[in-house]
Amino acid sequence: MHLNCTVQSAVDGAVQLTDGSSFDAALIVWTAGNDANPVVSKHTDLPINSRGLVIVRPDLRIGTETEVVPAAWAAGDDAAVPDLALPGAFTVPNAQHAFRQGKLLARNIAAALRGRPSKRYRHPSLGSVATLGLGRGIFQYKKITIKGPVAWLMHRGYHVLAVPTWERKVRVLAVWLTAALFGRDIVSLAAVEHPRDAFLRDGSAPAVTNRASVLS
Ligand SMILES: Cc1cc2nc3c(=O)[nH]c(=O)nc-3n(C[C@H](O)[C@H](O)[C@H](O)COP(=O)(O)OP(=O)(O)OC[C@H]3O[C@@H](n4cnc5c(N)ncnc54)[C@H](O)[C@@H]3O)c2cc1C
Repeated sequence: MHLNCTVQSAVDGAVQLTDGSSFDAALIVWTAGNDANPVVSKHTDLPINSRGLVIVRPDLRIGTETEVVPAAWAAGDDAAVPDLALPGAFTVPNAQHAFRQGKLLARNIAAALRGRPSKRYRHPSLGSVATLGLGRGIFQYKKITIKGPVAWLMHRGYHVLAVPTWERKVRVLAVWLTAALFGRDIVSLAAVEHPRDAFLRDGSAPAVTNRASVLS
């Protein structure tokens, strides 16, 4: 365990930490969070907080308490949206908030164009749920805790409901069902080490995906 330091670089498997120590690693698993997009934080004149996020009001208009930026709105990971369900806090950067904020933002823009009042974003937490392998899960809401297969089913059920569009719901369910019948996918770590090679080989444009399985 290396405490009170961060990873500075990891070139060719040599991990360099900010406390000056370094070591070699054959496998590096990145579990850190993501940062504000520098395009927004460094290349705009929008109001930005200390974390580089755009400051928005509860109705998702960009602006501080004293000054609003006309006709400018923001939502999702790059916006510091006040969490009205947890006074003093900001909504955490996850897809569920981004998705709901996106819908409200669209409605608020339409309302503003029609001269109607905008609505404030408020979404109380539905609890936390996580899974570890097939049939094992845990759900927690305030003092209520559910463990085991029921929590695992709740996790899976919630995710299927949350995934947008029927096509994607069916795709996700199909993958889960095959995993239940045949076990986990076997992934070649060699391919994971050089993900860009496949795109270069096929002459296609590189792609980036950023999905995992966490719920808050
Ligand atoms: C590995 C990982 C796992 C995650 N797992 C979960 C999960 O299980 N559950 C969950 O709720 N959330 C999860 N999240 C968080 C979730 O993905 C984000 O909170 C959500 O996607 C934020 O939505 P967004 O629209 O604000 O930003 P994004 O989805 O990041 O969309 C921003 C878009 O802007 C584009 N863009 C960036 N710069 C420019 C530019 N200069 N010009 C034009 N376009 C640009 C990007 O290409 C991107 O398409 C995960 C995130 C990561 C990284």
